[in-house]
Amino acid sequence: MKIHEYQARDLLAKAGIPVPAARVVETAQEAEKAFEENGFPLQVVKAQVFAGGRGKAGFVKLVKSAAEARAAAEFMLTHRMVSVQTGPEGIAVNKILIAGAVDIAHEYYLGFVLDRDRSTVSMIASAEGGVEIETVAHERPEAIIKEPLHPLAGMQGFQARRTALALGFTGKQANTVADILLKLSRFFIDYDCSIAEINPLVLTKDGKILAIDAKVNFDDNALFRHPDVLALKDDAETDALEIRAAAANLNYIKLDGDIACLVNGAGLAMATMDVIQLHGGKPANFLDVGGGVKAEGAIEAFRIILSDKKVRGILVNIFGGIARCDLIAEALIQAGREVGFKVPVVVRLEGTNVEAARKILAASQGDLPTLQVAGDLNDAAKKIVSATR
Ligand code: GDP
Ligand code: MN
Repeated sequence: MKIHEYQARDLLAKAGIPVPAARVVETAQEAEKAFEENGFPLQVVKAQVFAGGRGKAGFVKLVKSAAEARAAAEFMLTHRMVSVQTGPEGIAVNKILIAGAVDIAHEYYLGFVLDRDRSTVSMIASAEGGVEIETVAHERPEAIIKEPLHPLAGMQGFQARRTALALGFTGKQANTVADILLKLSRFFIDYDCSIAEINPLVLTKDGKILAIDAKVNFDDNALFRHPDVLALKDDAETDALEIRAAAANLNYIKLDGDIACLVNGAGLAMATMDVIQLHGGKPANFLDVGGGVKAEGAIEAFRIILSDKKVRGILVNIFGGIARCDLIAEALIQAGREVGFKVPVVVRLEGTNVEAARKILAASQGDLPTLQVAGDLNDAAKKIVSATR
């Protein structure tokens, strides 16, 4: 689960990390008022969206007057933000943060991520933080400091101090940065995060150290033990189809391609997406309908898939283990009659009663002319790729 910057700032502030106070508004008028109430001569107006790269996209703006704050907010609320993280269609902005601007001497990057290669949490830090951090990581990996944490002991004091010194801090400032690192690492563990990142952490011209942007993502599987985090969920920022799928107990993630997949089991769904790519296609989604494929679930799954206008074909890949293939075939046919298949649909079934299922599907061809039955997964992927090209 993702949260907004303003929510992450609140959580980090509660964890004892120095974050400048900010206000959040939803209209340009409120932005103007917030500027006056904040009372600083120079302030920063920032779009609150679940995507980074706002600075470069022009959605982080320094303003010197209430009128400028109003104009910046007006622009952001009426234009979709297109950044390296959004795709060309961009995303709409519904909330704006306004805070006193800080006088920056230097920008640093601090973050903790779930490190799948090392099977632990790793700290990442750099003295070259800010909007170019991806380029730095890509072109000059030596400018990135990485410390894996002990899975049980967590971040150790010596690791935090060593990092602070490696970033170039000395004296009291080094202690402050080490303290921030320890607090952020504890926050990551306590809240079951998948990412907790401060970029930039800034050294101000008057020697203060402050977190002025924060990104925090949580592991969905651990949300049940964080009701306070769940309460921060902003459905307006989540893809409408993903919300609908979650309500129907379907595990659905929208992607950029045009070949939709309907699969039972997450591993099989991943394999299906790989095989589609292998044969030159691009998956339009990840969709795991779960173990027992029933007509109602299949109908909702097809509706969700087909409401994505990019979808030009559907590959159904179901393994009948506990659920029998003949019943699955009946469910697919019922779904097809109910929803109407306007695009090619290729079905690959395997498992219990598969012969009976193939007969049932063959007998339904009159009703469902766009449906083809495939022999195996490679055959299915080839058929759907050629049917959609
Ligand atoms: P992001 O681009 O989405 O990561 O948004 P950030 O909040 O990190 O802001 C992008 C950049 O804007 C930062 O790296 C800073 O260079 C600049 N910036 C943000 N807030 C301030 C501020 O208060 N004062 C100054 N001078 N620059 C700021
Ligand atoms: Mn940032």
